[in-house]
Amino acid sequence: MRLTALLLAVLATATANAAAQCGPDQLNTARTITLKREGAQYGALQHAALPLEKGEVVLTFDDGPSADNTPLVLKALSDQCVKATFFLIGEHIKQQPDLARRLIREGHSAGIHSNTHPHLGTMTPEQQLDDLKLSRAAYKSVFGVEPPAYRFPYLEETPTLLEALKRDNITVASIDMAINDWTPEDTTAILAQRLTESLDKAGRGIILMHDEHAATARALPTLLKVLQDKGYKVVHLEWEAPK
Ligand SMILES: [Zn+2]
Repeated sequence: MRLTALLLAVLATATANAAAQCGPDQLNTARTITLKREGAQYGALQHAALPLEKGEVVLTFDDGPSADNTPLVLKALSDQCVKATFFLIGEHIKQQPDLARRLIREGHSAGIHSNTHPHLGTMTPEQQLDDLKLSRAAYKSVFGVEPPAYRFPYLEETPTLLEALKRDNITVASIDMAINDWTPEDTTAILAQRLTESLDKAGRGIILMHDEHAATARALPTLLKVLQDKGYKVVHLEWEAPK
């Protein structure tokens, strides 16, 4: 056997073993919701709630892919056998195309989160549409299909983009709760406390986190343990394939 083939065989075995470890000790993905490709708007902070039962949460990560931190996030998710949805920045997709593809290969789903993470509300309609166009092109160049969903940077929605997304059957994915994980000084204990408070308040819904941030990547094993200890169930969001 050639060395490359041998390495591939070893890797395949390692992957199979990792998958085989999923069991009652892990958090696990309880179920998958497959949404239509349509101009819907979800996330109770700004729109309709997803059809989730009490105690069900959707894990979402914004601002990646990040070469430094996304792999750690993927490891933590894999260790607990849970799937998440990543809202990617167009420029980051272009910088890390292989990492973007890895998200999908590992069973996660992905939407877009603008091209350069601007404050869209300060831009002209033309500039906003241009940013959307570039982010869609970046997504399509890596995944071969149009993005099914969009999350506004800073959740700052604009009439221009809301209309464009609706027209082009791209779902707006807002949130139900956050852990405000954008300060590098945040410790794992602080993030776990914020998650607990958000869960206690919302009881269900879409959780916003950031795979771009080291503090989040570091804390994720603990955050997933919080969900498990409190009896929450993880629901994975997927979208229908484009027609
Ligand atoms: Zn963001």
